[in-house]
Amino acid sequence: MIIGDLKNTDEILDSIDDAKKVLVMGCRGCVTICQVGGEKEVALLASQLRIGDKARGRNREIIELTIERQCDAEFIEPILGKVKEVDKVLSLACGIGVQYVSDLGLPTPVVPGINTTFLGVNLDTGLWKERCQACGDCVLEITGGICPIARCSKSLLNGPCGGSADGKCEIDPDVECAWQLIHDRLKALGKLENIERVIPARSWATSRDGGPRTRIREDLRSISREEG
Ligand code: SF4
Ligand code: SF4
Repeated sequence: MIIGDLKNTDEILDSIDDAKKVLVMGCRGCVTICQVGGEKEVALLASQLRIGDKARGRNREIIELTIERQCDAEFIEPILGKVKEVDKVLSLACGIGVQYVSDLGLPTPVVPGINTTFLGVNLDTGLWKERCQACGDCVLEITGGICPIARCSKSLLNGPCGGSADGKCEIDPDVECAWQLIHDRLKALGKLENIERVIPARSWATSRDGGPRTRIREDLRSISREEG
């Protein structure tokens, strides 16, 4: 899922300073699961903003709305009226949701309330770790299900680098060496020979280096056209 952190209050206040009516908009997707941008967090932030405004003698309207997903036309279209009636949207979705609403061509500016950080897993309450960088050409089958791009500090496709000690990465003794993890997992799987398999130099065009990516599924598009 996509992980994010709430921006600090001063930054948020600065970003909506010029607005008389603000819509704090949450999303029930990943940001709800990582407890940064769901209904509960929207209510909390909206209350803080109202209290802050009151303390400063400022009279403005803060309204709240949380929708299923901010990155999906299906859920955005029904609430366009609400977006149009405010001076600014403060979105607690990830950067994708912020841009989706912002790109609709409406005059209402949309500002982010959270910093989108990474694609990761929820390991425990309040504990998330990065697991994938969406490279578009997955090698997990070779590396025993451990991503060398997201989890090795140098994103080495062929590791280790020689700097690991006691299973930890040389950049930080609290970070596990991804290539140690890959070695141990391959051994447990009985596929240790994979460690000597050289992953050839690859085209990173499938990753961000090829520019913004578009994915088209013609089978789904044609069904959608048929349904009208
Ligand atoms: S190899 Fe690429 S797609 Fe697979 S987990 Fe790593 S970054 Fe994600
Ligand atoms: S020590 Fe391990 S995780 Fe760190 S950069 Fe080297 S190979 Fe990657």
